[in-house]
Amino acid sequence: MNKHAPNSWEARADEHSFYGFTDLPTIDDRGAIVLTHGNGPYVYDVHGREYLDGNSGLWNMVAGFDHKGMAEAAKAQYDRFPGYHAFFGRMSDQTVMLSEKLIEVSPFERGKVFYTNSGSEANDTMVKMLWMLGWAEGTPQKRKIITRINGYHGVTAVAASMTGKPYNHVFGLPFDEFIHVGCPHYWRFGHDGETEAEFTARLAQELEDTIQKEGADTIAGFFAEPVMGAGGVIPPSEGYFQAIQKVLKKHNIPLISDEVITGFGRTGETWGCQTYDFVPDVIISSKNLTAGYFPMGAVILGPEMTDRMQAASEKFDEFPHGFTASGHPVGCAVALKAIDVIMNEGLIDNVRTLTPLFEEGMARIAEHKNIGEWRGKGLMGALEAVADKNTKEPFDGSLSVSERIANACTDQGLICRPLGQAIVLCPAFILTPSQMDEMFGKLEKALDGVF
Ligand code: PLP
Repeated sequence: MNKHAPNSWEARADEHSFYGFTDLPTIDDRGAIVLTHGNGPYVYDVHGREYLDGNSGLWNMVAGFDHKGMAEAAKAQYDRFPGYHAFFGRMSDQTVMLSEKLIEVSPFERGKVFYTNSGSEANDTMVKMLWMLGWAEGTPQKRKIITRINGYHGVTAVAASMTGKPYNHVFGLPFDEFIHVGCPHYWRFGHDGETEAEFTARLAQELEDTIQKEGADTIAGFFAEPVMGAGGVIPPSEGYFQAIQKVLKKHNIPLISDEVITGFGRTGETWGCQTYDFVPDVIISSKNLTAGYFPMGAVILGPEMTDRMQAASEKFDEFPHGFTASGHPVGCAVALKAIDVIMNEGLIDNVRTLTPLFEEGMARIAEHKNIGEWRGKGLMGALEAVADKNTKEPFDGSLSVSERIANACTDQGLICRPLGQAIVLCPAFILTPSQMDEMFGKLEKALDGVF
């Protein structure tokens, strides 16, 4: 039971709203933070308290919380034409232009886009595309999807089945067709005496063995985030995507790059696959696609998958799938503006400029006796709390240590996210160097209070 005064914002928040992914004892104790507005990378609560958002919303508010151009783009489209879908042979001019833009900025020389309202739905859509290809191409047994332990792909029943986190067992997921292979986190899962290259080779061999065991002709696709995000910010081990893609190509299995977090600049390039030097068959995009100003996701098919889907759709006379708001014109107008802002207002350049400062700050915090590792890429990073720095032994206890650190950060006016035993930072791309200092200063104070 919460202990907040009747009719307070905290009590009212609790009374009628569910919290997703929230530690409920913490809410009972501390109450929800009810926010009213934002300014650049800062947000403000109903009591007037200011927080520097070290998470940029949920990895997505990369242009800050009050970008006037973004709001104007949405308003202009609401005024011009507020709604339409992208099916029954109709779509808005904004949707046409956004698809052209997405293919132009993608690593593909040609392709096609399908729109959803979220990253989960985009992954779900892609799985349905793969399953439809099975029927159309005479391989209906090709239904299995391979993802990785600790990978995060969303919350719809299919996307949750792809997600490699144990909490989905409360829903009786994953479905049978979903197989999870090893997580490329060398620091945590490398064997004693194993080099990083050997670790990568072991994971590639595990994938090969899994494909052999399941039967290559039963596997529809392999999905991976270039840097695992919600699994704890885990960059791939050395040479990982090259080794994995070699195995997938050998068996003709498409590689789908889930770029919901890494897309549009988070790792310092437009796409995470560019940072790690591979070209996937499909890109899944969301979050930064609209800089968080509209809920939207996109499945961006490369040339081969486009041709296969085109042929399959023609065979059935249609692709029987779509959401009411697929290709919503306001979403598309906002996405066009977001891409312009991110790519032409120097936001990706800022990620590159800020990255050395971010790395320096993370490395300094990682000297703490209870931080075992810092890891990350570009402007996404995690600090892993450990009870023992030498043995890497994790903490135990009902309220995780990362939850305690995150709460102490909140008290300092910094929002950051506990993920397992790690603390995650993924600030907005518009951060200034002094705001970066402020972020690490607050985190340092918070850590001092916890340990
Ligand atoms: N894929 C990845 C890599 C994500 O990080 C997320 C969300 O964080 C999703 C998919 C799901 O997106 P959404 O929450 O918009 O459904």
